[in-house]
Amino acid sequence: MDTFQEATNAEETLDPPDWTDVGALSHRILDDAIAYLKDVRDRPVWREMPAEVRAFFGASLPRSPAPAADVYDDVARNLMPYPMGNVHPRFWSWYMGSSNFTGALGDFLAAIQGSNLGGGNHAAALMDSQVVNWVKEMVGFPASASGTLVSGGSMANIIGLTVARNAKAGVDVRERGVGAIPRPLRYYASDQVHSCHRKAMELLGLGNRALRRIPTDAGSRIDIAALKAAIAEDRAAGFKPACVIGTAGTVNTGAVDDLQALASAAAEEDLWFHVDGCIGALIAIAPESRSLVAGIAQADSIALDPHKWLHAPFEAGCALVRDASAHRNTFAVTPEYLESTPRGLASGEWLHDYGLQTSRGFRALKIWMALKEHGVEKFGRLIDQNIEQARYLTRLIEAEPTLELMAPTTINIVSFRHRLAGASEERLKAFNTEIMLRLQEEGIAALSDTTVHGRHCLRVAIANHRTRRDDLDLVVSEMLRQGREIEAATPA
Ligand SMILES: *Cc1c(COP(=O)(O)O)cnc(C)c1O
Repeated sequence: MDTFQEATNAEETLDPPDWTDVGALSHRILDDAIAYLKDVRDRPVWREMPAEVRAFFGASLPRSPAPAADVYDDVARNLMPYPMGNVHPRFWSWYMGSSNFTGALGDFLAAIQGSNLGGGNHAAALMDSQVVNWVKEMVGFPASASGTLVSGGSMANIIGLTVARNAKAGVDVRERGVGAIPRPLRYYASDQVHSCHRKAMELLGLGNRALRRIPTDAGSRIDIAALKAAIAEDRAAGFKPACVIGTAGTVNTGAVDDLQALASAAAEEDLWFHVDGCIGALIAIAPESRSLVAGIAQADSIALDPHKWLHAPFEAGCALVRDASAHRNTFAVTPEYLESTPRGLASGEWLHDYGLQTSRGFRALKIWMALKEHGVEKFGRLIDQNIEQARYLTRLIEAEPTLELMAPTTINIVSFRHRLAGASEERLKAFNTEIMLRLQEEGIAALSDTTVHGRHCLRVAIANHRTRRDDLDLVVSEMLRQGREIEAATPA
């Protein structure tokens, strides 16, 4: 037996030599994590990293071991104090969710259980499908529809637009490629469409120009008459109108296209109707606001983002497709090494047949646990709460003569700016940018900015279950203070 003993001694593993040692560090990490979220409100939203921290991340590949406790100390010192800030109650930049602790535990357990959601016959695969089924239920899609959890909204949109291409191409694009499409395909979306659609069009081989940006009305919603005119013009010119993308919540101002009108237009014109619902699809679960997205259930495909208004820790997107076979026919490939078996681990359907990834992370657990803990109704109320908070901020802005609302507030995005008497657009932009940067650098609030109908504005996007009204009071008063300070320091 001596030689056997020698052989086992020689074999290495990543497991600790003694599991009892692991507990103490793990409990410390957990305690720190709880304290981190408990006190998040008392820390700055964001802070610039000092030079030592930047230098720390320049260190080269570690070659020899270090105790796990030391590794954690490095993380606690150099990483945890310098987050992006989106878990903070006063983070309203771009458009993100604010995560949640149960979801974080879900991510931890997903990693411990370790399953690969490429598919197979195991419980995590059932849970993955169950979460997709729940999402269908949230937006009113039929049980016969298909869906897949993906990295985020960008990927979910790619899934929808790819199925649309293959369904409308008129040739077998998978076999013959886009070069064989007889009449060039045309897609339509409003001029407010998210930039990921451009990437999708490029990736699909259709090219950016194949996505026609249709003008929007004063409320930044797609102009339906202009859409119909563009479709007619394209047909006359020999193109094949293939797909219309409705946006339920634009990233600039939160505008929601008239989804019912788009559904009818798509049906009349025989187009695929895709909804980019990364921001707003989940309004379908909000009791006070759901009528805003009426018509969403008529879509052929929907992209949405559990890491936004379901506050799942990154990453979690979801693509839904009404016609499950069109979805599967777009992506399914069965190589000899992934054939299903009648029983055992490889029985049943492969989840990777509904998207581009083969190995897939176990994204479902973090969503599943938070939904079970709180129930979908609470998530719906939180969406209404954010929309109400945006209205509250809008009222504060309207009541404050030095601030100017820049777009109507439809959902949870408020576009506005600080006025500056007699200043040019250029000066206003510089002035407001400076206010935004100071609010970030002082750790008070994270806003972002954009340009709407040619005018620069600051943006507050409240997809945050930690935000309270007094946070919005604070940002208004701090903006005014910053404005006064900048004006005082600037020679007239
Ligand atoms: C966030 C967003 C996307 C992109 O989603 P990611 O999850 O960031 O990939 C697409 N469209 C809209 C309208 C969005 O708000």
